[in-house]
Amino acid sequence: MGNSGFADLGEGLLIFDTFLTPQAAEDLRSAAETITGKQILYAVNSHEHGDHVRGNQVFSDVPIISTDKTRKIIKESLSGQIAQQKQDGETFLASMKEKSANETDPQKKKRLELLIGTITEINESLLHFKMTLPTVCCENDLVIHCSKRKALIKTWGGGHSKSDSVLLLPDDKITFAGNLLFFDTHLALVHGNAVEWSRSLNELSKYDIETHVPGHGPIGNEHHFELNQLYLTDTLNYCNKMVKEGVPAEEAASGFELFDYAAEWESKDTVPSTIWSVYEQLKK
Ligand SMILES: [Zn+2]
Repeated sequence: MGNSGFADLGEGLLIFDTFLTPQAAEDLRSAAETITGKQILYAVNSHEHGDHVRGNQVFSDVPIISTDKTRKIIKESLSGQIAQQKQDGETFLASMKEKSANETDPQKKKRLELLIGTITEINESLLHFKMTLPTVCCENDLVIHCSKRKALIKTWGGGHSKSDSVLLLPDDKITFAGNLLFFDTHLALVHGNAVEWSRSLNELSKYDIETHVPGHGPIGNEHHFELNQLYLTDTLNYCNKMVKEGVPAEEAASGFELFDYAAEWESKDTVPSTIWSVYEQLKK
């Protein structure tokens, strides 16, 4: 599950990301409205991945904001994903249950169990899923002025995905960064672009922010943010060196040693595929 959030702008609420399923989005909406006693004014999709947009139908009564690119990719890809999952969902669930029963590595077993929970929720959501696209698109910046606080939605291009947006609440020194930030977890770099990602974080670092809400996992501070930047820089430096020295991608991935500061981070098993992916991006 990812992180979604809401901000009380004064006249009403802004929802940032709508979760993986309408069921989860219903819970989010209900919690936000109950806690604040206010109505939803806007929803935002940080990027195109299903775990941030598939609850959109719960917010179809308000403007849903994203970049043009994010909307376009959701439109092109989500119907196909839904059709595929309707066809294969139950078989896939059964195969993952069998795999988990036979898995002896505790970390892999834990990941499989999380996946099984996710697939179960997805299969349930397919029974009442309605395709709901963003309705208000912005290219780079959108500012929402309300009586209690100002909300900035900023995009500097891609990074984690083809187009990543963040929500900045400058008065509170808070950002909701979507998947541009991961704390204590190896970055999910396979679908994005490491150079663009690094550039996006450099732009984000120009703002005076104390609290960073990532797309998944625990909230971080400035120190966590700096480690994220360093991780990207170090990964890019390593992969650039491997490309320049003519080391094959497979060797670069298998020979990679975890950075000291990231040695205990989660999702270690994703690192070789990330290194391979960044290597291929830089080689182009
Ligand atoms: Zn994502």
